[in-house]
Amino acid sequence: MRDVQQPQGTVVVTGGSRGIGAAVVQALAARGVPVCFSYATNREAAEFVAQQAADLGTPVLAVRADVSDEADVRHLFARAEELGPVTGLVNNAGVNAPAACVVDIDAARVRRLLEVNVVGAFLCAREAVTRMVRAGGGTVVNVSSRAAVLGSPGEYVDYAASKAAVDALTVGLAREVADQGVRVVGVRPGLIRTDIHATAGDPGRVERLQRSVPMGRGGEAAEVAEAVVWLLSDAASYVTGTTLDVSGGR
Ligand code: NAP
Repeated sequence: MRDVQQPQGTVVVTGGSRGIGAAVVQALAARGVPVCFSYATNREAAEFVAQQAADLGTPVLAVRADVSDEADVRHLFARAEELGPVTGLVNNAGVNAPAACVVDIDAARVRRLLEVNVVGAFLCAREAVTRMVRAGGGTVVNVSSRAAVLGSPGEYVDYAASKAAVDALTVGLAREVADQGVRVVGVRPGLIRTDIHATAGDPGRVERLQRSVPMGRGGEAAEVAEAVVWLLSDAASYVTGTTLDVSGGR
């Protein structure tokens, strides 16, 4: 069996300051892959992740950039090129909202979820793919959610819909650029222990729901990161236009 080739070039990870994104940054840095990651507001968390990667001797850049802001996204990719050609993107930055039924959801909430989770993913994919085609290839990994399939009734159908849009981006963009050396794939995490649940007002969510997971437990951010790293690697060279569930069977 041939060796698993890690990405050559720089990988951009959005939302790398905490949770799944931070675990992806750590997993790539441990393999010596240069990483440029974004964060929204939490500079302290970003500096901690950057220091951990730097301690491994891997070039890393932390850039404050809101993925829903076009100028910020352009700035993020310009900074990433300081580390070398961009050949990987992990479209990870995402937000959720407190549990609510569709009949109680207002326009501002839906717009915010779509702005960050969908518009952000499209803007970053555009900047990445433009550069990857120029560089002769690359891989985009979109971080979706099992919510896209389960629909999240009584919790956040709007969030689920935003992730279903991400899944459609994976399929459509993959087919647009498959003959230009660019792969577009996704992961659908299930219940993963990160801050996102507390931020959406439900800190005990994973503990409460983990019995509904066939494997009987919540997942760790590092377990999602390993799937992302594999999808980015040359070991996944014939995989495109598809999304992998990382959800303990849920
Ligand atoms: P998290 O712990 O809340 O971390 C979110 C990250 O995204 C942070 O680094 C945050 O930056 C960044 N971020 C938020 N809004 C942003 C924006 N507008 N622009 C740029 N960065 C932004 O979340 P997580 O659980 O790791 O989630 C990561 C991804 O996995 C999301 O797409 C989420 O929908 C998806 N997911 C999570 C789960 C789960 O159970 N945890 C399940 C399925 C899917 P700051 O640190 O500056 O705030």
